[in-house]
Amino acid sequence: MNVQEEILTAIKEYQTIIIHRHQRPDPDALGSQVGLAEILRASFPEKAIYQVGGPVEGLDYLAEMQEISDEVYKNALVIVTDTANSPRVSDQRYANGAKLIKIDHHPNDEPYGDLVWVDTTASSCSEMITAFWKMFAEELTMSQEAARLLYAGIVGDTGRFLYPATTSATLRYAADLLDYGFDAPKINREIDQVSRAVARLSGYVFENLEVDSLGAGKVILTNEIQQRFGVVDSETSAIVSLPGKIEDVLAWAIFVEQPEGYYRVRMRSKGPVINEIAKRHHGGGHPLASGANAADLEEVAAIYQEIQTAVSAFREQA
Ligand code: AMP
Repeated sequence: MNVQEEILTAIKEYQTIIIHRHQRPDPDALGSQVGLAEILRASFPEKAIYQVGGPVEGLDYLAEMQEISDEVYKNALVIVTDTANSPRVSDQRYANGAKLIKIDHHPNDEPYGDLVWVDTTASSCSEMITAFWKMFAEELTMSQEAARLLYAGIVGDTGRFLYPATTSATLRYAADLLDYGFDAPKINREIDQVSRAVARLSGYVFENLEVDSLGAGKVILTNEIQQRFGVVDSETSAIVSLPGKIEDVLAWAIFVEQPEGYYRVRMRSKGPVINEIAKRHHGGGHPLASGANAADLEEVAAIYQEIQTAVSAFREQA
């Protein structure tokens, strides 16, 4: 039996299934989590299926979470989607079920769970869930709502099919989902649109981005800047990809100061591998999209220096 068959067997075996995802969710976290929940609801109406986790922040147009008591975890199957490391699982009760499954597309730095299905070649965890449905299409039922959520997850993590993880399979899965007739232009717009405050912050990012001669970029969003523009940390996801639009920027970091004084680091790249840098600074992620933390401005400078070195090494290879 391959791992996907083992996962389906476990799903059939349990009456209660609780699905979690990572903290600070993005469209792929919610798309894979609730997309899977909706497929299971449509396929096994007699089972109790729950989606659990903390606030969905600005993504309530996608899905909302359910409140469940600790009791529900007894004899439950728990599935965690899109989450590489166990401390990042939203709602730590995920560990209280009878059996645990990890489904993810990030590097498998921590293979937690009784069953682990990790595919780092998938563009998104939502793509994996779509593949899972296709694999067992005779037993699993796709619904329009599941298709909407999974499509949103794929669009979110591929930057609307822009990033290199987008394959011909990604596009075929997206096409299969589109057949379910949800309003795709609406979901594309919802993912893409920003508030006026974030639009103004975008101007600040372009104005203040520091780029070295080789294409390593950085910008620091202090608490004072965030207050001035009236944005909070969760809204910075909309501006992370912006420096990549500039032709000579190859890799970049956005340092978002937190109220406690440390910096959340959001790193992106068009080629140089950056997740090794992230791992050295309490973070991790994909080779071209990672996150980390910097304790102070000294660590901010150290991270930028490491990005510059990675960009320089990449240029030399090319
Ligand atoms: P973000 O900039 O927060 O959108 O993060 C980009 C990617 O980096 C995410 O998909 C995560 O895989 C990863 N990531 C972000 N923060 C962390 C962290 N503190 N630890 C491990 N991985 C992280």
